[in-house]
Amino acid sequence: MPPEVAATPPRPRTDLPTIEGDSKPFWDAMRENHTFSVVECHACGHIHHYPRPFCPVCWSDDVSWIAASGRATLYTYSTVYLNDLEPFASELPYVAAVVELEEGPRVMTTLVNVATDQLAIGMALTLVAKELTPDVTVPVFTAA
Ligand SMILES: [Zn+2]
Repeated sequence: MPPEVAATPPRPRTDLPTIEGDSKPFWDAMRENHTFSVVECHACGHIHHYPRPFCPVCWSDDVSWIAASGRATLYTYSTVYLNDLEPFASELPYVAAVVELEEGPRVMTTLVNVATDQLAIGMALTLVAKELTPDVTVPVFTAA
């Protein structure tokens, strides 16, 4: 009797965020308006991201959401050639990057539609809304 061959279960996606109460407005704005939202402190003026219900500089809870411009510059990057986690494995090679938003916060993201020989620290970038699922649209960036 031949051994039973178990079907390989599909591998879970590793690129979907956990959407929680403090980050839900960010994900809603990305999905509905293709807008990158940041949080502004009314006590000291600091703008922060990732979302928190208080200012990480002065600890004030007098903060509110504002729409960022979508303009950024490339702070640093790495071209990724190996990643066996889905869906990244089927997108190789890709460029993982930290970009600095015009408003100040630095954000981990990926770059799309940019040739690797075109990459330069400080280059101007613009936001692209990448729909992963009907519920999740993520911010990625491309050359401005
Ligand atoms: Zn503050």
